[in-house]
Amino acid sequence: MFPDEFDYHRAESVDDALDLLAEYPDAEVLAGGHSLLPTMKNGLAKPDVVVDIGHIESMQGIDRNGDATSIGALTTYAEIDDDEELWADATVLTEAASEIGDTQVRNRGTIGGNLAHSDPASDLPGAAIASDLTLVVEGPDGERRIDADEFFVAMYMTDLAEDELLTRIEVPRGDGATSGAYVKKPSPSSGYALVGVAAQVQVDDGTVTTARIGANGVMDHAVRLEPVEDAIEGERLSDDAVSAAAERAADDLEEAMMMDDLQASSEFRSHLLETYTKRALERAAERADATVTA
Ligand SMILES: Cc1cc2nc3c(=O)[nH]c(=O)nc-3n(C[C@H](O)[C@H](O)[C@H](O)COP(=O)(O)OP(=O)(O)OC[C@H]3O[C@@H](n4cnc5c(N)ncnc54)[C@H](O)[C@@H]3O)c2cc1C
Repeated sequence: MFPDEFDYHRAESVDDALDLLAEYPDAEVLAGGHSLLPTMKNGLAKPDVVVDIGHIESMQGIDRNGDATSIGALTTYAEIDDDEELWADATVLTEAASEIGDTQVRNRGTIGGNLAHSDPASDLPGAAIASDLTLVVEGPDGERRIDADEFFVAMYMTDLAEDELLTRIEVPRGDGATSGAYVKKPSPSSGYALVGVAAQVQVDDGTVTTARIGANGVMDHAVRLEPVEDAIEGERLSDDAVSAAAERAADDLEEAMMMDDLQASSEFRSHLLETYTKRALERAAERADATVTA
């Protein structure tokens, strides 16, 4: 199918893009285009105006300064996956990016587009929550900083206003003791996450001091699994502790709001959530070099 006709504007800077968004309030922003263009082609999105931000240099690439690593919103999954230093600072995010789609998608799709789109089955939102990322957005009133676990509001809805742009994503610098993992059950047809769980843990002498767990695919938007965090903090990463924590994965999730579709029932997703929470914690434990023993 072909999209309806639309006007195309190419923004050369963030200010230029914000001016265009103010002038055309119903415009859609085009980044990698891997979600926007399919929805325009199948008629789900019919913008009169498209603002192409793909050439804005200040939103590209990975920058390190002081105690934070800053990832431009237009940085592709491939660039994230290729950055060895980022693997140390944000293992979970890097692993999730490496699992997205195929090479073509990873060369084109952007971290900003993935997060701004808030597709429940996307891989990065859960990883963003577990990695404790800060999302920096710019709008007519200047800059705003949003914690990842407050950014995702509902299916395809975020805290981002229509006249704002997600410009960069800040990763807290790891201190070497942070470990993590992202594991997913991919949809057999699309490769998107039926369920994906991201676990980041800080381990001191084999004991978990802090944990952040995020999940996508289960609810209409990515969620933080605080009951799992509470259960594993203060514990050694033993088989028993990991299993007990994973059992609490769905504790705070309203069953009626769980994703339930032709690909997987809510009951199956709930089962997958527990299983993949356990796997994420086990892999994080292996990486933390903590002994997983009973
Ligand atoms: C074949 C295929 C397989 C895929 N498999 C997976 C998968 O396994 N896992 C996965 O997570 N995703 C998958 N995707 C989706 C892909 O990751 C998309 O790239 C991503 O969802 C959107 O990123 P984008 O840069 O392409 O954004 P676009 O498609 O350009 O934009 C998406 C939405 O976000 C908005 N937006 C984009 N950037 C910004 C910004 N900086 N500020 C404000 N709003 C913005 C746009 O207006 C639009 O509404 C797949 C896509 C395809 C085509």
